[in-house]
This record gives sequence, structure tokens and C-alpha cells, in this order.
Amino acid sequence: MKTFGLIGYPLSHSFSQQYFIEKFERENITDCEFKNFPLENINDFPVLLKNNPSLCGLSVTIPHKQSVRRFLDDVDDVARKVGAVNCIKINRKSENGKWKLLGFNTDVYGFEKSLVPLLKTHHERALILGTGGAAQAVARALINLNIDFLFLTRENHPKQLNRHSYSLVHDGYLMEHLIIINATPAGMFPNSNECPPIPYEYLTPQHLLYDLVYNPEETLFLRKGKEKGVLTKNGLEMLQLQAEKAWEIWNS
Ligand code: NAP
Repeated sequence: MKTFGLIGYPLSHSFSQQYFIEKFERENITDCEFKNFPLENINDFPVLLKNNPSLCGLSVTIPHKQSVRRFLDDVDDVARKVGAVNCIKINRKSENGKWKLLGFNTDVYGFEKSLVPLLKTHHERALILGTGGAAQAVARALINLNIDFLFLTRENHPKQLNRHSYSLVHDGYLMEHLIIINATPAGMFPNSNECPPIPYEYLTPQHLLYDLVYNPEETLFLRKGKEKGVLTKNGLEMLQLQAEKAWEIWNS
């Protein structure tokens, strides 16, 4: 039996396990299992590997996408540029009998592939809400697509030039940036009454609102967009695309 799994903490919000269980059933894959490994402290990662000798691949979620890097033998170019790993391939057949761990980032692929069909010619600039690992993956995908972007942050005086504080955002920001991407956990289960603090009253039907959150299916962020006639998209397709990419990597 080959074991695959998800590390992160907490894991109650994640659909990954359900996705793979359904995939294995649908595709009649009988020699694989997918387990959740709630890992509060990343220092316990080596013990987890030791205790689960059938592990072949892991997905990584909040809060370990950056901190897991130091346990890996190498990371691919995309993960290096993003600075976050969400997929680990475990090769147990290395020369000295030890495992070899390779890190990847499949969020860039999942986000980019799910965004492209929604883009119109007026979607030239984007606001990325948040500055964490998911926001960096979104930024990398936007670079690939030649779309300019700015990060919005809760910080009052961000040092980086392309980061602006929410407190400064006025109607002009929304008029100039017709794509708005929520790459924060605001609004995610169980905090479904939260949303990022942008001036929703300035949204127009020209806007595209993309929420990386998929639980709940329609976040308050997306609901506020819909009320203004905006095209909206949640993060479910991104999750599915990045999971399929991870499956490809684990089996390559
Ligand atoms: P993270 O590192 O915990 O947070 C990202 C950033 O969000 C933080 O750096 C912070 O930026 C901002 N933030 C945190 N809490 C906030 C709040 N309550 N209100 C407003 N801003 C807040 O998370 P992440 O790993 O980047 O993931 C972000 C979200 O994307 C999560 O909900 C995750 O589940 C989702 N995600 C979905 C997919 C998918 O496949 N659909 C893939 C990856 C991630 P500032 O401090 O600069 O404001």
C-alpha cells in the first residue's frame, strides 16, 4: 500500500483528503491511501516520516509551506521563486538507504490554469490581498501571464514598494485594478462572517473577484462582489488542479 497525505494544522478546513479518496474510488486505484497528518509543530516532521514508512508523497498546507523547506534535500525552480512548498515527493530508494525529499509548488499551476479562462482584455492589473505563501504563488502566476499586481497588507507601513496598506485603499485602486484576488484566510470556515477590508462599494461588473478559499463555497468576499454584478470564482478548481499536479509529481 502506498501512502499519500497532507500535513498542516489545523486540517479541518481542507478538502484534499476527500478529493483523493474520491479520486481513488473513481479511478479504481486500490493500492493507495490518503491520510491527514495534523502536525502542529514542524519539528515533528522527521518523526512523522520515520513512523510512516509507506509514505510516498505529501501535500503541505498552513502553516508549514515555508518552514518545511529546511527538511528537504532540494526544491524545484518554481517553489524556490515562490518561497513556499506545497508538495513533497518522498523517494525512499536513495543510495544510503535514507529517503530523499524534493519540494514543489503546484499552487502556481492550479491558480494560473483556473484563472486563464476567466480573463478579458481589460483585466490588465490585479490586487493581491495578503502577503503569505499563497499570495506569492498567485504573484508568480500573474508574472507568467504578464499581469501587473500590487499586494495589499494589514501592515500600516510596509517596506516593500509593491505592498500597500488596506488603510490607504481608495476608489482609484479599484478602478485601476480589475482583478482582485483574496489570498488570505479571511472568510474561511469557521470564520465565514469575515472578509478582507477593501471598499466593496467601488466594485463594478468589469471586476473579477477570485477567492482562494473554497470552504465555504461562497465566501462573504465573493457574496459582496456578486451583489455588485462582479464575475466571481472560488478556490475549488485551483485545489483540484494543484492536487492533480501533485499526483503527477508523486508518480513520476
Ligand atoms: P497565511 O500565510 O496564513 O496567510 C496569508 C496572508 O493573509 C498573511 O500573510 C496575512 O497577510 C493575511 N492574513 C492572515 N489572516 C488574515 C485576516 N484574518 N484578515 C486579512 N488578512 C489576513 O495563508 P496562505 O498559506 O498564504 O493561504 C491563504 C489562503 O489561501 C488560505 O485560506 C488557504 O486555505 C488558501 N489557499 C487555497 C488554495 C487552493 O488550492 N484553493 C491553495 C493555497 C492556499 P498580511 O499580514 O500582510 O495582511
